[in-house]
Amino acid sequence: MNKQMIDNKRHVVDIDGIKVGGGPVVVQSMTNTDTADAKGTAQQIYQLHQAGSQLVRITVNNEESAAAVPEIIDRLRAARCDVPVIGDFHYNGHMLLQEYPECAEKLAKYRINPGNVGFGRKRDSQFEEIIQVAKDLNKPVRIGGNWGSLDQKLMAKMMDENAKSPSPLSSGALIEKALIDSVLQSAAQAESFGLPADRIIVSCKVSSVQSLIRIYQNLYQQCRYALHLGLTEAGMGNKGIVASTAALSVLLQQHIGDTIRVSLTPEPNQARTAEVKIAQQILQSLELQSFKPEVTACPGCGRTTSEFFQVLAKDVTEHMEQKMPEWRISHPGVKDMNVAVMGCIVNGPGESKHADIGISLPGTGEKPTAPIFIRGQKSHTLKGDNIAGQFIDILDEFVKN
Ligand code: SF4
Repeated sequence: MNKQMIDNKRHVVDIDGIKVGGGPVVVQSMTNTDTADAKGTAQQIYQLHQAGSQLVRITVNNEESAAAVPEIIDRLRAARCDVPVIGDFHYNGHMLLQEYPECAEKLAKYRINPGNVGFGRKRDSQFEEIIQVAKDLNKPVRIGGNWGSLDQKLMAKMMDENAKSPSPLSSGALIEKALIDSVLQSAAQAESFGLPADRIIVSCKVSSVQSLIRIYQNLYQQCRYALHLGLTEAGMGNKGIVASTAALSVLLQQHIGDTIRVSLTPEPNQARTAEVKIAQQILQSLELQSFKPEVTACPGCGRTTSEFFQVLAKDVTEHMEQKMPEWRISHPGVKDMNVAVMGCIVNGPGESKHADIGISLPGTGEKPTAPIFIRGQKSHTLKGDNIAGQFIDILDEFVKN
């Protein structure tokens, strides 16, 4: 697979050993548990990390949450889970980080929003207090602006200036500019308080695809900070997945974005880990990174025999997902493997020959035999009632050898 082009212009931020900036894109996610529930939060962080999340963020919204952070981290380390945990602070971060020093120490990074640090004259001093803690403890900080919580003082000033301008910006363009200016001014302020640029990550999250693309293209041009990328409040189900994929793909293709989060509103029964798998699939589909074998399956049509073809494609995909934790250690190269499961002889043999290993099933009315191709050569012809089981055995043997 092609690896992402190295962008030497970005600052590289080290988050407890995970490097963000200029190299492979880092996948991250966020819990939705009450952080004060240390056991439940640690369990969810563990699950997200097992699914592939390289960084996990938790909300630290009150004293109970701040007090629970040390136990959360201790539980993870006892379970041999070394994922860096990020604390998300709004309004009272300055107070919690100072009054709960063990929380401040155990978190790997802090996330603050320039619009939610404080109000009025206290804003700057509270921001400085947060940066001072980060500086003293060598912690990186993400300065993450969000459309829903713009810095109101800055916005009012910009609206005033815009009204007097001979060529005023539209309200949409003004908000986009305000968001970028807000995070970059706060990042510059953090640097003026002594936090080095390689401990700062910035983000400007919005929920509109086109706006996100414009904002990040501008942000990328205007700074060298590592960029956290994500479409915020992307929504539920297909809408959220498609909108996130559309926005992130355009930007990642231009090498914009050093760490990503897919922010989905989960369906009632949806696993929290879904957002991690979608983020990985976006990176894998763009051939920026590989995480697991790719299954090429035809869409099926009137030539496929009943549901057997779909069942086989699903069984093969699930089998490989189950095997991946073991294969990742015993056969690391397997993540680059390509497996084809094709429905009939029309495109089946051709696609199967291009894959590392492929099966072309018999279509309706065709002979009930299924040729297997390994690295372009026909290796077996399967017959009988257990074609799926035989193929999975051959697949396992192929990986082993
Ligand atoms: Fe239909 Fe065969 Fe093409 Fe699959 S490979 S879509 S079954 S014609």
